[in-house]
Amino acid sequence: MTGILYVVATPIGNLEDVTLRALRVLREVSIIAAEDTRRTARLLQHYSISTPTTSLHEHNERSKTPSLIARMTAGESIALVSDAGTPVVSDPGAHLVAEAHRQGVRVEPIPGPSAAIAALSASGFAETEFLFAGFPPQRSNARKQWLAALADEPRPVIIYEAPHRIKGTLEDMLEVQGDRLVALARELTKAHEQLVVRPISDLIGEVAEFTKGEYTLVVSPRAAEVTVGVLPGPLQLLDEFGELTKNISTSRREALRILAKRYNVPVKTVYVRIEESRK
Ligand code: SAM
Repeated sequence: MTGILYVVATPIGNLEDVTLRALRVLREVSIIAAEDTRRTARLLQHYSISTPTTSLHEHNERSKTPSLIARMTAGESIALVSDAGTPVVSDPGAHLVAEAHRQGVRVEPIPGPSAAIAALSASGFAETEFLFAGFPPQRSNARKQWLAALADEPRPVIIYEAPHRIKGTLEDMLEVQGDRLVALARELTKAHEQLVVRPISDLIGEVAEFTKGEYTLVVSPRAAEVTVGVLPGPLQLLDEFGELTKNISTSRREALRILAKRYNVPVKTVYVRIEESRK
């Protein structure tokens, strides 16, 4: 009987984040195809798993796939793992999985952690839909074009980024997409985990201090661009405006400014609404 290709999610930091089923499968398969056998060895050692490993990374995936498929068609089962999280998600393995399907080998996912979903779940942005965009291009020009194409995306966008490019990416994002809210998740599940939700302009100053670590960003949709509040109804607004201006030390202009701040809207919006309310 043909074996099974198990696509096994592994922790993104905290070794406790692994399912019982993942551990059983890793124990039972003939061999584990791992992006980096040394990284995977730490997990296996922690759980006293002695299954042999073989490396499968972006540079040898194509050449190695035929021998792995041959082992599965001969009846052995294999687990595919990446360095962290869910294999194939911005990680190697897609070719092996596609080839397994083509050759009639059953593929079973063993679900578990993924930095993208972990960051999204704690961002406060997602309601139903989201877009996973993976890594942005590395060069600033290509990156700006890539970000521009996402500028009108109505769903939250999840982005992976390397630590030394995070500041440049946020700067390009501010330029191309405007100052919207971003959930920046750094070192999730690890000892120095940080999760902050701030306008891009605030984050740019802060990330200069963090050069190391793994980052996932969840960018809020244009509609959530740095939160704009809602003004009260016309009568209440006029009332509040009147209250402020009856004090002779508060000018009309100052009163508009106070109301804009109180309701987190532009001054012009308050002015227009008051003029309309008067009519
Ligand atoms: N397949 C993996 C997954 O499902 O999470 C992602 C692999 S991708 C090559 C690695 C990127 O994921 C990192 O560069 C970083 O952007 C993000 N990442 C991985 N671990 C993370 C963590 N603990 N906290 C935040 N982001 C992380």
